[in-house]
Amino acid sequence: MNSGRKSNVIKGVLQMKCPSCGEGDLFEYPMHRIDKVLKMHDACPICNQDYRQEPGFYFGAMYFSYGITIGVMVLFGVGYNILFDPDEYYQTILSVLVPAILIVPFNYRISRTLMLYIFGRIRKAPKSQDLVESKEFSS
Ligand SMILES: [Zn+2]
Repeated sequence: MNSGRKSNVIKGVLQMKCPSCGEGDLFEYPMHRIDKVLKMHDACPICNQDYRQEPGFYFGAMYFSYGITIGVMVLFGVGYNILFDPDEYYQTILSVLVPAILIVPFNYRISRTLMLYIFGRIRKAPKSQDLVESKEFSS
């Protein structure tokens, strides 16, 4: 795996794009549409790659979600205590809970994206320019 492919994968995960073509969106609506934040395409709108792997496939995303939530809680809890040295324990609890609740939509989506990129059985689709080049070589 070269560094160009790695950067494409990282970019694809962060932008939540199709792992096959890197262009189609995984989710139907932008993240600010809180009422539709969970709605995911069944297949890629560009290359038609099926995102439904098998029944229960996305249950595994809860482990990513759990790890991200714990990381955010530790980061904000420790950071708040170091920076502000709170007097009351409820301030520390709020400094942990508020960020953990605010990242729920992003966390949900990035966890599913990571699950699909890491454990989904998806082959990288050749780019259309690669197909043209391979035809030129074969003829
Ligand atoms: Zn695609």
